Amino acid sequence: MALVTKAIKGTQDLLPNESYKNRYVEQTMLDIASKFGYKEIRTPVFEYTELFSRGVGDTTDVVQKEMYTFDDKGGRSITLRPEGTAGAMRAFLEHGLFNEPLPQKVSYLTSCYRYEKPQAGRLREFHQFGVECLGTAAPAADAELISLAHEIFSHLGVEGLRLEINSIGCPTCRKKYHEALHSYFESKKADLCETCLDRLGRNPMRILDCKSPVCSEIAKDAPKVLDYICEDCSAHFEVVKKHLDAMNIPYVVNPTIVRGLDYYTRTVFEFVSEQIGAQGTVCGGGRYDGLAEQLGGNSTPSLGFALGIERLMLLMQAQNTPLPEEEKPDLYIASMGEEATVLAAKLAASLREEGISVQYDVAGRSVKAQMKFANKLGVRNTVVIGDSEIESGKVTVKDMNGGESVEMELDGFEDSYQSYLIQSAVAEIAGTDGIDMSGINLADLF
Ligand code: ATP
Ligand code: MG
Repeated sequence: MALVTKAIKGTQDLLPNESYKNRYVEQTMLDIASKFGYKEIRTPVFEYTELFSRGVGDTTDVVQKEMYTFDDKGGRSITLRPEGTAGAMRAFLEHGLFNEPLPQKVSYLTSCYRYEKPQAGRLREFHQFGVECLGTAAPAADAELISLAHEIFSHLGVEGLRLEINSIGCPTCRKKYHEALHSYFESKKADLCETCLDRLGRNPMRILDCKSPVCSEIAKDAPKVLDYICEDCSAHFEVVKKHLDAMNIPYVVNPTIVRGLDYYTRTVFEFVSEQIGAQGTVCGGGRYDGLAEQLGGNSTPSLGFALGIERLMLLMQAQNTPLPEEEKPDLYIASMGEEATVLAAKLAASLREEGISVQYDVAGRSVKAQMKFANKLGVRNTVVIGDSEIESGKVTVKDMNGGESVEMELDGFEDSYQSYLIQSAVAEIAGTDGIDMSGINLADLF
């Protein structure tokens, strides 16, 4: 296929017959987050490379191998965002949001870019829903954040996700842990991959997150961070668990989770599925108390998570999670001849103003072809306007699902059609709830 008609490897199109599902899922997330006090933030798709090398950490896979980095025409090193936290924190610092009441709770839906080996659930352009809770050190915030992700999954009807939590301590207690890790990996030096050899000197914890099979095998027997965390970190972790227990959120403690980004401290967590293959982590997050300072700001203990939209959609597809049906157009106005099409356009315009979804012929087709098209669209009702309808001043609204046809005057059609819709809706509700509507004059209700 010609290059111009082929999407780049690791990117994908979301077509109209699928996009409404993502729209629903994304809107649900934003709405639930909003109930938890999160407000949307939008930051640029590219930032100075240094934001990510400092923020995400230059010993991470993301920074070392995966970033889309280039020099712009002014010779500045620019990177397409590989994740959303660094940009959100940059904006928080740049615009002085730390002067606002804390914590500042922000949410976002963004595209992210990572140069990875494309496979199921791993793309080069992917999308994240993320939230950041900026400016609180209290463990209650960790549990509330986790409960938000939990609430999103349960509201969407996603099942079988395992919540795994861990604490990776603070810089103080991590020093001891780094030493223990260092001496463990030092003894396995001969087998470690090139990148991990470099990490051994700079940040041995990163080796625990290496995707190479040999390194991950070695990492299995490495000292566990939970055995090294200090009293304060341990107490923090206990309160997080207490809150989760109180909220009836099931979890398992997995002492091997360290997360792929350098900024994490204390609580880290993942929601993992066994149903979508090797890329099973649908959502990951944790606390990053040191990030603000790392970016040159004042100490701002914070936390957040990011949820991979494509992985979530894969999981929902695998589980056949029910989604609301796509909205179908309510009315198709078929027209015969120019005068009738002008009238169709006029009626459609006023009905649309009332919030009704209407389509009419904008392709110059025969009435037969228009009806076929309307059928394919799955419209609820159709009406035909031709010379005889214009002459008689009457049209017939046909219910495409086999209901009764109703004749209406063209004069005042917009109002008559609206009351017809209301009456059908009432009749539908009455029908499904088994309410006896006989003897009730619908006209009295409106
Ligand atoms: P993984 O271990 O799978 O590489 P990660 O630790 O790099 O994940 P994060 O940086 O925490 O992932 O990103 C949060 C979420 O974003 C992941 O849990 C996943 O759902 C999604 N995600 C990350 N990388 C990709 C990718 N390349 N393609 C699709 N989704 C991704
Ligand atoms: Mg990764």
